[in-house]
Amino acid sequence: MTRFIFITGGVVSSLGKGLASAVLGSLLQSRGYKVRLRKLDPYLNVDPGTMSPTQHGEVFVTDDGAETDLDLGHYERFTGVSTKKTDNVTTGRIYSDVLARERRGDYLGATIQVIPHVTDAIKEFVKNDITDEDFVLCEIGGTVGDIESLPFLEAIRQLRNELGSDGSCIIHVTLLPYIHAAGELKTKPTQHSVKELQSVGLQPDILLCRTEMPVPDEQKNKIGQFCNVAGDDVIIAEDAVSIYDVPLAYHQQGFDTQICRHFNLPNTAPDLKTWQSIAYDFAHPEGEITIAIVGKYTSLQDSYKSLGEAITHGGIANRLKINVEWIDSELFETENDELLSYHLGHVSGVLIPGGFGKRGSEGKINAIRYAREKNIPFLGICFGMQMAVIESARSLGDLPNANSSEFGDGGDLLVGLMTEWISGNAVEHRTDIDNMGGTMRLGAYECIIKQASLAYEIYGYEKISERHRHRYEVNINYEKALNEAGLLISGVSPDGSLPEIVERKDHPFFVAVQFHPELKSKPFQPHPLFMHFVSAAGKHSRLV
Ligand code: GLN
Repeated sequence: MTRFIFITGGVVSSLGKGLASAVLGSLLQSRGYKVRLRKLDPYLNVDPGTMSPTQHGEVFVTDDGAETDLDLGHYERFTGVSTKKTDNVTTGRIYSDVLARERRGDYLGATIQVIPHVTDAIKEFVKNDITDEDFVLCEIGGTVGDIESLPFLEAIRQLRNELGSDGSCIIHVTLLPYIHAAGELKTKPTQHSVKELQSVGLQPDILLCRTEMPVPDEQKNKIGQFCNVAGDDVIIAEDAVSIYDVPLAYHQQGFDTQICRHFNLPNTAPDLKTWQSIAYDFAHPEGEITIAIVGKYTSLQDSYKSLGEAITHGGIANRLKINVEWIDSELFETENDELLSYHLGHVSGVLIPGGFGKRGSEGKINAIRYAREKNIPFLGICFGMQMAVIESARSLGDLPNANSSEFGDGGDLLVGLMTEWISGNAVEHRTDIDNMGGTMRLGAYECIIKQASLAYEIYGYEKISERHRHRYEVNINYEKALNEAGLLISGVSPDGSLPEIVERKDHPFFVAVQFHPELKSKPFQPHPLFMHFVSAAGKHSRLV
């Protein structure tokens, strides 16, 4: 029997609902249950693919090519369960499906309404594509009280009636603000938020209260009384030093125990050894290094959520604490070695992440040149690989005008749309660029690694699969020119037409990849590229 857990949020946004859901999933797994996590997003975009990363944060890409909310990254990193297209939906997607059905005539004769048509579509999504999972955890984005979330809350109200309390549990995540002047934790916002939830017919079973202070039992009982919840079902989620402490902390507060009680499941002790060792290793590094991330969405670190996490995983694997310096690539837009040396001279690694558009691209190219010339370990990701190829071709090859057609048509287009340089129909063509949504090369693709390469040493396999999200490709026809510039194409698509990994032999660690390895890294399974990049950075830090 699959049980459903719905997670709503109240009082303010950014309470860490996504993390709490992921942690609960992982705690249930540690009791031997099979879980699946999904997210319902109330905004009107069909998916977050066209939103600015500095508005919405990272777009997380699944193996099956869906562009989804970054919370799905938390789900994967804490449970190891790969998410799918069927695990994230938005109001926009629900409406576009309902309207397509209406046009097809599926509802012939009926007036289409939010209840029941939209709510039915939401319920269908929640219950769809489930096999033998013991639990499906369903997070509702936004904050209770938002106009947009009403249809989702109504759908959950109906589902609760259908599934009963044996088959479903409602968790409400709230905030207990600490008023420093009064020296008190305040419970009123939580009471109001629960009232708001009750006004749409939902009574929470469990409250997860975020706080920066410990909460005495009397206060827990008071919250419970006002919110119609048992005192034990008020779980105190105090701020943690790191996210890796959260599974242990929530377990200690009884989160998973109360969930098991709610569903009348045996309260067997969870196996938390993995989290204990991750938390220990993270808290006890044996050294410290600095890595610079030169990107253009650095004003919001959530834009690079998985990247930051993957670097930390690499740090845990090497027992190194990593200080990340986020640098806006526009700073380096004009060639200025003094400035580059001021910002990058002291770092042990330079990482150029994914990105879109011309703005900031020359800054990235300059940062790559600096890392290459100064032998600083370098990792390029997606756009970072495209810029690395352009940099080598311009500086060391005979192609001073090397460029990407993403920036216009001038120069030697080493990077371009495949359709611009492939003749014939051998590979997938993406010509539909009028439509920006969902038309990139998205999701998992295989890559074949050449044996005599650093990439092979890193992965230890010839055939790998990694996730993609890009429109442009490095033109394989320039392979010879790139070799002459010292760049080896060490990974290609199975048909040999698309460069996937490039590296330099004349450098301690210079690797760039067309895919996004950060999306697959987990604290309990750090991605090999990040492990090796951090290890090379560690070596570099001992040299300088
Ligand atoms: N803008 C580049 C492309 O579309 C790279 C995308 C990325 O870095 N994710 O190919």
